[in-house]
Amino acid sequence: MGLLSLGTPLPWEEAKNYADYIRHHGIKQFLWIYHKLKDKQNDCLLWGDEVEYMVIAFDEENKNAKLSLRLYEILNELQKEEEAALKNPNSDKMVKTSWKPEYGAYMLEGTPGVPYGGTLKELLQVESNMKYRRQLAAKYMKPNEVPITIASFPRLGCQGQFLEPHYEPKGEASRSLFVPDEIINPHARFPTLTANIRKRRGSKVAINMPIFHDIKTPKPFIDPTIPRNRNLFPEDKEAAEGMALPDHIYMDAMVFGMGCCCLQITFQACNIEEARRLYDQLANIGPIMLALSAAAPIYRGYLSDVDCRWNVIAGSVDDRTKEERGLEPLKNNRFVINKSRYDSIDCYISTDKTFKPEYNDLDLVYDKEICKNLMDNGIDELLARHVAHLFIRDPLVIFKESLEEQNDENVSDHFENIQSTNWQTMRFKPPPPNSNIGWRVEFRSMEIQITDFENAAFAVFIVLLTRAILSYGLNFYIPISKVDENMKMAHRRDAVLSEKFWFRKNVFEKNNIMYDDYVNVDNDNISIQQQNVHNNNNSLDNKSISIEDEYEQMSIDNIINGDGDKFPGLITLINHYLESINIDIESRCILGKYLEFVKKKAKGEIQTTAKWIREFVRSHPKYQQDSVVTQEINYDLMKTIEKIQKGEAETPELLGNFKV
Ligand code: ADP
Ligand code: MG
Ligand code: MG
Ligand code: MG
Ligand code: MG
Repeated sequence: MGLLSLGTPLPWEEAKNYADYIRHHGIKQFLWIYHKLKDKQNDCLLWGDEVEYMVIAFDEENKNAKLSLRLYEILNELQKEEEAALKNPNSDKMVKTSWKPEYGAYMLEGTPGVPYGGTLKELLQVESNMKYRRQLAAKYMKPNEVPITIASFPRLGCQGQFLEPHYEPKGEASRSLFVPDEIINPHARFPTLTANIRKRRGSKVAINMPIFHDIKTPKPFIDPTIPRNRNLFPEDKEAAEGMALPDHIYMDAMVFGMGCCCLQITFQACNIEEARRLYDQLANIGPIMLALSAAAPIYRGYLSDVDCRWNVIAGSVDDRTKEERGLEPLKNNRFVINKSRYDSIDCYISTDKTFKPEYNDLDLVYDKEICKNLMDNGIDELLARHVAHLFIRDPLVIFKESLEEQNDENVSDHFENIQSTNWQTMRFKPPPPNSNIGWRVEFRSMEIQITDFENAAFAVFIVLLTRAILSYGLNFYIPISKVDENMKMAHRRDAVLSEKFWFRKNVFEKNNIMYDDYVNVDNDNISIQQQNVHNNNNSLDNKSISIEDEYEQMSIDNIINGDGDKFPGLITLINHYLESINIDIESRCILGKYLEFVKKKAKGEIQTTAKWIREFVRSHPKYQQDSVVTQEINYDLMKTIEKIQKGEAETPELLGNFKV
């Protein structure tokens, strides 16, 4: 998105009057992009990761680990470094990193300076680039500060001190009982986004994650730390009036979700069709990777009974009104909407021949007028519905300056306004106008891991999987409602080992290629066969197989590592792919380690980060078996995480014998 444009954001009372205007121009802008670039071909594979960091400040005297609110001080230095490198591309200071602000005033987002290309050599640079990024960020921090990659900060919103510097929770934007507005990125966009979500919704967001009932956790658990009698804002009474559920950890502000850290991967496809195909195929991988990367078991100082952050973020930006949530009859709003703006995707978009309309089995909420307009202007129904679905949302932040007349042919900011505040498991990214960027797809479900090794392993795994998908024409389609069920499963404690996930039984495009045929032919043959399949549209309709027979529930171990001759396993497919390309032994060895890591996670031979964190707390000598993560436990956890990421702690349960 580039640097955030400066301007004057409109408060909700004004912004809402321009919603139709933004949507109208947003659609025009999309149409221009589409018609100019729909036939763009042969873009090469480019890709990049996004790693989000928290700046942790240690207070050794009081044994406390806090969030340091120095985002812009650090970011300014990092961006100076980036600019210097840009000016002098031949020096040894290559443009290795790029830095952006994030929602929390204690967060940073780092990406490679330029996207990676499609070569193996670049795959091997991912981990060292991530390490370099972390070192560079650390360089501009104070001696007591560290860049840490954890999905959720355990003591965010707790009584006592969790911010450096400390502020009392009495901010106008969030009106939270637990966090001050100073925790939000001070750029006008972010407090406005926060306030406008609250105002549009008509109340504060209300997130309730189930508490983990340990031996001494009271039952029912009624959180004694909620200031139920505060009387500073009208919203203060919401907690006492039923928003804070018993047996749950209650959170009332956007930062509880948007202040979490994730790992995202963006790919450039060779053309729009390939992008649409990857979007659909990776959608089904989203929940599987969420479960494997699960890293967020603690919220507001309590162990929760879930392992992932996703639903917390979904709740944290849920701007739907009561009418839209189906709690009151529609009067002022246009739609009852099944999900938050931050949630799993609701429809597939590929026109690939393996797609069947029955897979889109959710009752899609979309703007019929916008859909018709798009179709009247040459967009096919699937893509038109996708965009019309995104456009059921209102723009949340409108800069006054952006309302001056623009030429829709050359800009995309009104389109991006809506697009980039639809935070779904996958994002289909059209090229920005007047750039040479192609059609891209973003994979967004993964949680951030503690070490650069782990983050590189997950990133490389996803990149290689996309190569296998495209080389072998893999087909992961299942009804999209089943993907939603998988998302729910992924949140459960220890989901990797205890839950089963819907997955397609035969992942080969052509239904009559069975696994036996696949392992018995050499790789050249496979690509030739697939080529034939591609050229022969008629041979595909295999109507005799009903959709219900196409998928079943599998363990993550079986999905990743295979199940005898029943199912090949994603890693087996990736290994086949690697064997089919010309790869030297050394590279094979490095990539092999990443795959081995994913394999072991799926088998349960090494723990998920969430499990490891939960166990750390539960085995801490000061833990009282009451679900409470105290300041001291949190301090020790952060200290240990710092050591792990530096390779100074032995943690075979988390890392096996992999060296970081
Ligand atoms: P956003 O926050 O909107 O998802 P960012 O710009 O922060 O986007 O990061 C997207 C990622 O995409 C970065 O890792 C970047 O290196 C990568 N990237 C940039 N250009 C391309 C491209 N043309 N194709 C694929 N990936 C790209
Ligand atoms: Mg972003
Ligand atoms: Mg980004
Ligand atoms: Mg980000
Ligand atoms: Mg992103």
